Amino acid sequence: MIIHSKLPDVGTTIFTVMSQMAVEYNAINLGQGFPDFMMSEELIALVNKAMTDGGNQYVHMNGLPLLRERIAEKVEQLYHNPIHANDCITVTPGGTYAIYTSLTSILQAGDEVIVFEPAYDSYIPNIEVNGAIAVRISLQFPSYNIPWHRVKASITAKTKAIIINSPHNPTGAVLHESDIVALREIVAGTNIFIISDEVYEHLIFDGIAHQSILRYPDLMERSFVCFSFGKTYHCTGWKIGYCVAPAPLMKEFRKVHQFNCFSCHSPVQYALATYLQQPTPYLSLGGFMQQKRDYFRSLMQQTPFTLIPSHGSYFECYSYAGFSDEPDKALATRLTKEKGVATIPMSSFYKEGTDNKVLRFCFAKQATTLEKAVERLLQ
Ligand code: GLN
Repeated sequence: MIIHSKLPDVGTTIFTVMSQMAVEYNAINLGQGFPDFMMSEELIALVNKAMTDGGNQYVHMNGLPLLRERIAEKVEQLYHNPIHANDCITVTPGGTYAIYTSLTSILQAGDEVIVFEPAYDSYIPNIEVNGAIAVRISLQFPSYNIPWHRVKASITAKTKAIIINSPHNPTGAVLHESDIVALREIVAGTNIFIISDEVYEHLIFDGIAHQSILRYPDLMERSFVCFSFGKTYHCTGWKIGYCVAPAPLMKEFRKVHQFNCFSCHSPVQYALATYLQQPTPYLSLGGFMQQKRDYFRSLMQQTPFTLIPSHGSYFECYSYAGFSDEPDKALATRLTKEKGVATIPMSSFYKEGTDNKVLRFCFAKQATTLEKAVERLLQ
């Protein structure tokens, strides 16, 4: 059989490649982003309870109504936006799915979508599988700020959407109010949608407030905002998140969603509806993770890597330009095989493989894991 591939240039995601290599060489995995410590026992017990109480059948295709109400309450408290739980929130199997579904709901063949590189690796294939075109704009190096003048210059009659992501994966960069002002100026009076990937909303450090699109009603009317419980509650393998969008946009989103996932894992939704009533776990997450970041930073000072400072996500980027001109993929492979530490080479997040000699490290790990990894790097 011959398949005319929809994604002829796409290989296996770098996260799987590096995690597999880490297993093969028994390396400490600071590559793929996931915590190596236990999640809340209380939340696990709530899932068990939901199962034994009989919460094992389909819930509503848009998500358990009570969970959506609790999400709406959280959004109102955090971002002062009274969203309608019934019309504007859909529970999804993870943030990546929410982003894919948003794009699929709006894209027609030939549409253009503005994407910033380095870009999380699902964005461009999500655009291209829909027959649309990714218009790639490089973030300024090494600040990883958005060059808004270039965005303005890239808008055409075919621009259908702009994807933003703060805190940013893979760089950890965060958007500031000035970015929102620039974005607002560009989209005002157009039909351009915004896809806002906010899966790291609570992983923001150094006293900076998260610039959620949910704070801005004028931007919200054109936006799909995507979130992840996996990142918030240290359970990335649960694959559960949600999308928030205005009713007319969400209506289209649900047309795609209902024939794809239909409804998400029920027991987890019952459990989250209860657990979400406590704000402490998500409100304390930034402080908890900042401690890890600061500890990792202090350990990395002993190495020849140079920090590229950032304020969010669970990643930090380090330059090795000071001690090697090896391609980043070669270095990441060598560190995994020879030193036993897996990372992610940043060129994987550029379609043309731009190599600024930077590696991404995930610091969402136990202190002992971080210590061992840096010890290995120093050997
Ligand atoms: N979001 C995670 C990361 O950036 C990986 C998710 C995945 O493996 N698809 O590392």
